[in-house]
Amino acid sequence: MPLTPEQQRVALRRIAAWRAEPARPVACPDCGVEGLTIIDRSARPHAEWYALACPACGLEEALHIPMGAVIPTLD
Ligand SMILES: [Zn+2]
Repeated sequence: MPLTPEQQRVALRRIAAWRAEPARPVACPDCGVEGLTIIDRSARPHAEWYALACPACGLEEALHIPMGAVIPTLD
């Protein structure tokens, strides 16, 4: 099931936080449980791709960030 726009915004913020601090656990944008796996599959400089997987709820998503997009600031 695809993420809702709100969940995508949450996921993007969490990816931004993860990039700043990769050792910190990331909470799933769907179920909220920490332990989300993020794999950077970016094809820079054209696009950024992140594969998300949550072992708790089975979420599997690929998030595409167009280059030049503004990543929302942290909460
Ligand atoms: Zn989850």
